Amino acid sequence: MGNQTEKERILAQCSECKTVYTSKRYPDGSVVPIGRKMGCQCGSTSFIELESELDMSA
Ligand SMILES: [Zn+2]
Repeated sequence: MGNQTEKERILAQCSECKTVYTSKRYPDGSVVPIGRKMGCQCGSTSFIELESELDMSA
């Protein structure tokens, strides 16, 4: 209520080790894995957006 949280839940894959994380996409386009502010377990902070979790039907 009143909070402007424009974040969107998505699935994102590390561009280095291919690990997939549930992530948030920020309005500025950055993708950050939920619970992993520092980035991937491999140290990478580069993620590729896979699909929106909100859109998974079937
Ligand atoms: Zn990685």
